[in-house]
Amino acid sequence: AKQAYVRTKPHLNIGTMGHVDHGKTTLTAAITKVLADGGSGAFVPFDWIDRAPEEISRGITINIAHVEYETASRHYAHVDMPGHADYVKNMITGAAQLDGAILVVSALDGVMPQTAEHVLLARHVGVRHVVVALNKADAADPEIADLVELEIRELLAAHGYPGDQVPVIRVSGLRALAGDPEWMASIRVLLDAVDSHVPVPDRYTTAPFLLPVENVLTITGRGTVVTGAIERGTVRAGDRVEVRGLGTQLATVVTGLETFGKPMESAQAGDNVALLLRGVHRDQVRRGTIVAAPGTVTVHQRFVARVHLLAAAEGGRRTAVASGYRPQFYLRTTDVVGEVDLGEGGVALPGDTAEMTVWLGKPVPLESGLGFAIREGGRTVGAGTVISVLD
Ligand code: GDP
Ligand code: MG
Repeated sequence: AKQAYVRTKPHLNIGTMGHVDHGKTTLTAAITKVLADGGSGAFVPFDWIDRAPEEISRGITINIAHVEYETASRHYAHVDMPGHADYVKNMITGAAQLDGAILVVSALDGVMPQTAEHVLLARHVGVRHVVVALNKADAADPEIADLVELEIRELLAAHGYPGDQVPVIRVSGLRALAGDPEWMASIRVLLDAVDSHVPVPDRYTTAPFLLPVENVLTITGRGTVVTGAIERGTVRAGDRVEVRGLGTQLATVVTGLETFGKPMESAQAGDNVALLLRGVHRDQVRRGTIVAAPGTVTVHQRFVARVHLLAAAEGGRRTAVASGYRPQFYLRTTDVVGEVDLGEGGVALPGDTAEMTVWLGKPVPLESGLGFAIREGGRTVGAGTVISVLD
């Protein structure tokens, strides 16, 4: 039998974010190496994290890789975020559940457009704590690194993070991965900063259960399994749940749970899980639906939102948005087209924050406070928060 998951330490979800090539994947591998050398967990090599076939041929990260590790005080699930703007979609679905993020900035290059874009998105999807890995410190002039540090603190402050208190740790993922003791120590300093700066969140474990579905799999002989990170509440085998959203409404029962391949008796907010659902056919559940305690979620097509449109320099649009604009909305793990209404003659310019009414093409589970991103033509042009739900 498989070894059961035993909860001995608080569990947190973190991830790397930052501009392409600033060293997110190298750092992720280096963290597992440093911890494995210290006797905790398994080393996960770079090639395993960046394992999608497209990655190898195109040299960019397209999938979110989940890596599991432990420090002395915590158990972490770490997602290595894609760095390329075209894949921000994946970052949004992963980032929505992050308790904290490691912002990776190359000390050689400084703040780049995707650095700013990821900070903006993190803020909008509710990532409350950021620790900075000022990477490639092995190759950077310390005075340049000082300037980059100032630039990062300003960027974070501009997006509502405590820019002067955020830990900025100079590291070298590459040298740590190569086993250089000085730089391995820098990774331990970074992990200490994550341990102390990112608090164990209030998990809302007593709230009604809700899991946004990231993936659906069929396990031959057992049935349909949905995977994702639990947004709130607790679930155990035998619990009745319903699948909602994208036109689906279906009652079922959870017959089994796993995390990182280990069976568990109950799972709670923050856990990455696979749930086996009784009598559900694979076609009946999709990414973008949610699994929730029965009767606790309502679906809607119209809402009022506060939206920040990225400035052109941040990779946003060049022209204003007016009523009738129809971009793609990314809410939890769903993406759906929606039309905005800014009122008679209303316009919003790139760089503006504006209130607007949104009419989605399909009903999705919605509530005030939910963060989302807006994309068109394969790039992120804005991010927002639901202020109130209409119908
Ligand atoms: P990602 O796109 O942010 O995941 O970046 P990668 O981890 O793929 O790294 C991009 C490039 O930067 C690779 O060639 C790495 O070897 C290099 N790199 C990563 N970390 C460091 C570092 O700490 N120092 C130096 N000098 N190079 C690094
Ligand atoms: Mg990468």
